[in-house]
Amino acid sequence: MELVNLKDAQDTASFSEAVKRGLGKQQGLYFPTHIPKLENIDELLEMPFVERSIAVLRAIIGDELNNGELEEIVTTAFAFGAPVEQVSDNIYTLELFHGPTLAFKDFGGRFMAQTLSRISEGKPVTILTATSGDTGAAVAHAFHGIDNINVVILFPKGKISALQEKLFTTLGGNIHTVAVESDFDECQSLVKASFDDPDIREGLHLNSANSINISRLLAQVCYYFEAVSQLPKEKRDQLVISVPSGNFGNLTAGMIAKSMGLPIKRFIAATNANDTVPRYLKTGEWAPKKTVATMSNAMDVSQPNNWPRIEALIEQGYVDKSCLKGEMVDEEYTQLAMRQLAQLGYTSEPHAAIAYRAVSHDLEDGEIGLFLGTAHPAKFRETVENVLGTPISLPKPLADVAGEDSLAVDLPASYDALKQHMLDLLKA
Ligand SMILES: *Cc1c(COP(=O)(O)O)cnc(C)c1O
Repeated sequence: MELVNLKDAQDTASFSEAVKRGLGKQQGLYFPTHIPKLENIDELLEMPFVERSIAVLRAIIGDELNNGELEEIVTTAFAFGAPVEQVSDNIYTLELFHGPTLAFKDFGGRFMAQTLSRISEGKPVTILTATSGDTGAAVAHAFHGIDNINVVILFPKGKISALQEKLFTTLGGNIHTVAVESDFDECQSLVKASFDDPDIREGLHLNSANSINISRLLAQVCYYFEAVSQLPKEKRDQLVISVPSGNFGNLTAGMIAKSMGLPIKRFIAATNANDTVPRYLKTGEWAPKKTVATMSNAMDVSQPNNWPRIEALIEQGYVDKSCLKGEMVDEEYTQLAMRQLAQLGYTSEPHAAIAYRAVSHDLEDGEIGLFLGTAHPAKFRETVENVLGTPISLPKPLADVAGEDSLAVDLPASYDALKQHMLDLLKA
C-alpha cells in the first residue's frame, strides 16, 4: 500500500510508515494512492466477519503485515461482533458498541494497537492523547498490557462523566492517566506542546493514536461490509446509510467501502448543531462556527479533521458527490427521535438517534435505511434516563469498573509539570 500526503504530493508513506507517523508534513492527512475495486463482493459477503475483514484489509494493505501478522491482528482486535437490528419496516441499525468500552472506537483503537505493537518491532513507543470521553477509554483498553508501549491520557478533571472516567483510569499497568485541572482544550494544548518538544517527542517516541491515523479508518471499513452481509439480500442495492458524524472518520470509512464496490446507494452525514458539513453541502461555503455543547458531545466538532479525505474520494472519482447528503438535527429533534425509537421498542442514545432522525426523515420509496449505533445507551445513562424517563441498567464493562478506584494523578494545567511527570514515569 502506498499513501500520499494530501497537502504535499512529495510526502509518501507505506502503510507502516503512515501508522507510525499519524500525520504527514504540514499536518497533512495520508490518503491511499489507489483504492482497489473488489470483484468478489458476493463471495465476501458470505464469509464470517473476521475472515472477511482479513480479506478486505489484505486487498487494501497489500503485502505489508505478512506471515500471518494481519490474520493475528484482526483476530485479536475484532473479538466481538457488530449485529444489525431491525427497528422498523425499512430501517435497521448497526450496533457498534459491543466492545470493551462500548463505542465504535474500540474497532479502530484495537486494530491500531495490535498493528503498532507489531510494526514497532519491540522499540518503545509512548502514546499521548487527550480525551473528552470515548477515545481515551478505547485507546487505553486497546493498548493495555502491550509490551513496550506506554500510554499517557490527559482528561479535564471533573468534566467527564464519572463512569466514563472509571473506564480508563482504573486499568493501571502501562496506562497512565492524568486529571488536568482545566478544560479539554487545555488538555489538547498540552498534547501539542509535548509534540513540539524534541525532548519528549524523540526522547519518548511519541505517537498520538488519534482518529486521523489511517489504521483506525481501515479497520472501520470492515464493519460496513458486515452490515451489508446481515441485511436481506433483495434489499441490498437500495441501501442508504446514515452516519452520526463529528470528525468524519466513520463516514470516510464508509465511503472507502463504497469505493471498493460495496453496494451502498448513498450516505447521509448526520450532525448535531455543529453543522459545518451539512451547511457546506448545501451552500458550497466552508464556514465553521464556534463549537457548541450538545447532548451528543462526541460530535461537538466544528472543524472535522477527516473532511479533506472525503473531498479527495469525491475529487478522485471514487464516489459521486450526489451520493452524500448532509442533515443537521437539533436538540429537540434528537430527544424526539430517542422517544420514537423507544416506542418502536429500541433504546438508543443521542448520537445514534440523530442518525435515525436524519434517515427516517430523508428515506425515499423503495429505499432501506441503516443508521450506525456508535455507543451503548448506558454510556450516556443520565441523558437517556432523563429523556426517556425510565431507568437503564449498566452492562458488564461499566458495572465492573463502577466501584473501583481511579488511579489518575492530578496535575495543574502546566506544561512543565506534565513534562516532569512524563520523564519521571517513562525515562528509563
Ligand atoms: C466519536 C463518536 C462519534 C463521531 O465519529 P466521527 O468518526 O468522529 O465522525 C459519534 N458517536 C459517538 C458515540 C462517538 O464516540
